[in-house]
Amino acid sequence: MESRVRAGEKLVEVPEAQDAALQFIGRIRTPWSERKDCPRQGRVDGPECRVEVFAPWREALLGVGEYAHLDLLYWLDRARRDLVVQNPGNDGQRYFGTFALRSPQRPNPIGLSRVRLERVEGDALIVRGLDCLDGTPLIDIKPVTCEFTPKAPPKG
Ligand code: SAM
Repeated sequence: MESRVRAGEKLVEVPEAQDAALQFIGRIRTPWSERKDCPRQGRVDGPECRVEVFAPWREALLGVGEYAHLDLLYWLDRARRDLVVQNPGNDGQRYFGTFALRSPQRPNPIGLSRVRLERVEGDALIVRGLDCLDGTPLIDIKPVTCEFTPKAPPKG
């Protein structure tokens, strides 16, 4: 765990993890190796980042290049998981519950960013709009819904 607990913040005893095993499907390469350098939220005018997809999931990229924007889900692997109340400004003044924040410190540290797809390079996607540390594990890639034309026939 990387982050310190600030004055007035509250922790809980975290129960033993239950079965919801995830598979990391790739790794995200970004210019940031330290949290202090990482943006709080990604911007589409931010730097290019490389989303590397592992075997055997590479074939699952088929068609991704048709989309301008993607939602990426990733595992904020260096975050604490036991904070219920946080002081994001580190000012000892304003406290918020974890679910009122997009802080990386949360019970299941899933990050979500809507990114612009610049191009597909083999097994990797080059995107802008990320805010995660270099090496962050990738959980999922989804096309942005409003651009999504269902590939399946209508139901019923
Ligand atoms: N955009 C995502 C979201 O809203 O779910 C993540 C937002 S979170 C505020 C982004 C911050 O998480 C970064 O500024 C950095 O401090 C931290 N962070 C990034 N990658 C991380 C990682 N792999 N482990 C722990 N913390 C990370």
